Amino acid sequence: MLDVLIAGAGPVGLWLAAELRLHGVEVAVVERRAAPDGRSRAVGMQAGTLDTFATRGLAQRFIERGTPVPTGHFGAATTRLDFSTVGAVHPFMLALGQSVTEQLLEEHAVAVGAQVLRGQEVVSLTQSPDAVEVVIRAGGTHRTVRARWVVGCDGTRSAVRQAAGIDFPGQDTTLTGWLADIELDDPLTAPLAATGPAGSFLAAPIGDGVHRLAGLSTATMHRGTGEPLTLEEVREQTRTLLGRDLGIRNPRWLSRYGNATRQAARYRAGRVLVAGDAAHMFFPAGGQGMNLGIQDATNLGWKLAATLQDRAPDGLLDSYDTERRPAARAVIDNTRAQLALFAAASPEQIALREVWSAALAEPQTNRQWARRIAGFDDPVSADTTPGAHPLNGTRLAGLALDAADAPTAHPLMHHGRPLLLDLGGTRTPCLADGVEQRAVTVNTEAAHAIWRDVTAVLIRPDARIAWAGTDTDPQRRAADCLTALRTLCR
Ligand SMILES: Cc1cc2nc3c(=O)[nH]c(=O)nc-3n(C[C@H](O)[C@H](O)[C@H](O)COP(=O)(O)OP(=O)(O)OC[C@H]3O[C@@H](n4cnc5c(N)ncnc54)[C@H](O)[C@@H]3O)c2cc1C
Repeated sequence: MLDVLIAGAGPVGLWLAAELRLHGVEVAVVERRAAPDGRSRAVGMQAGTLDTFATRGLAQRFIERGTPVPTGHFGAATTRLDFSTVGAVHPFMLALGQSVTEQLLEEHAVAVGAQVLRGQEVVSLTQSPDAVEVVIRAGGTHRTVRARWVVGCDGTRSAVRQAAGIDFPGQDTTLTGWLADIELDDPLTAPLAATGPAGSFLAAPIGDGVHRLAGLSTATMHRGTGEPLTLEEVREQTRTLLGRDLGIRNPRWLSRYGNATRQAARYRAGRVLVAGDAAHMFFPAGGQGMNLGIQDATNLGWKLAATLQDRAPDGLLDSYDTERRPAARAVIDNTRAQLALFAAASPEQIALREVWSAALAEPQTNRQWARRIAGFDDPVSADTTPGAHPLNGTRLAGLALDAADAPTAHPLMHHGRPLLLDLGGTRTPCLADGVEQRAVTVNTEAAHAIWRDVTAVLIRPDARIAWAGTDTDPQRRAADCLTALRTLCR
């Protein structure tokens, strides 16, 4: 019997497979499509995803294939978000087509031992107390596979989610935007945004001489997603929204997309879990869906592996739902707010967009939203322990180290185990099985101020901080650290 069967070889399923393999879990990914889809929905990889890939030593292979973009937008506001402030290892958004992302993730997943089986569609499943039986259709025949756990990473229409009886409440599409992946007579060197009473327009180079043009026009935003988009309409829309047509030619992909917004009522039903678009869908504003899904997988991988291997404390696997549902809810809210700004048409709505642009010029506000969009500020459950450090529960960011092999903690996390860093010059006598420990000094010039009083930090495999301590007494520190450690592993 397989340990884990994953439905869907999109970015989320492939990344989850690789994360499970870090812990030796036997995993297979079944994918309905016989061959990868050459089109790319996502063209933006956020700094938060690059940071995650850096914890496994993989960020560079993505960066080599993409183009760093130092700023981003929120609702096409004229003041851009400055990603250099977010405390990331790679403080930019990477323009990179989803098809390349998937190719690199598949190569990695296969290299670490995951099976990726194409032309195989999950059609139904049934659960028993110890296993899940999954019916898979391949080339006109059906077979049954048994797995201890199943994860649906099979997109918004997830067959796994439906078969597990997980509701997907929300709203259908009411507005549509359009996109064109296209060549331009005068290629852009940087992203372009324009807003006005007719709607909003974005354009950015996405590699290989192709540009992503995306617009939301108040005149056409009620057209259905199924209504064909022509080159002539893109030309006309570009002229209307931008004032010139950019010399568009040779379209690769023309499409409309909608604002259907839904979220799974729960992310787990017995031995079945959902992640990525199978768990949430929303208007693609700000380049967040794939990034959010990759964080779902990063959160789930080590927890599911620990559960399978009898290392998990009570409640660890359920914390996947309690941590990741609020994260998606926050992204849903910000995409709705962005859509309101994209679609601003009345003088009042246009004034709101201008007020918002002015607010983003304030550095603290800009940093807060740059961190949100980059994936660093998921809402966290507050640590109510008396004296708890404000870093507890947050994502690792802004920690610079004085170590030749590790300018940040990320290179020390390739193994995917919890990492205890001693930063205060004395070792915490806290060694436990399965925990890596390292003494390093903080580079106080480069580290964010919040790190300066920290004497030890316990970092989860998904680079979230389980506990940060300021005690200079090693014994007291060890006791606090062990309490935190018990929430991660037995
Ligand atoms: C226009 C547009 C632009 C976007 N831009 C961005 C962006 O810039 N940045 C960003 O982060 N996100 C963006 N997104 C969102 C992003 O594309 C998705 O969030 C992302 O693809 C989700 O990944 P996933 O692996 O969860 O699902 P998917 O990518 O949908 O993959 C699911 C896979 O499951 C397979 N499958 C489906 N059913 C079955 C079955 N029954 N059995 C087996 N396999 C099955 C499918 O064939 C597919 O390969 C955009 C979306 C759109 C529409």
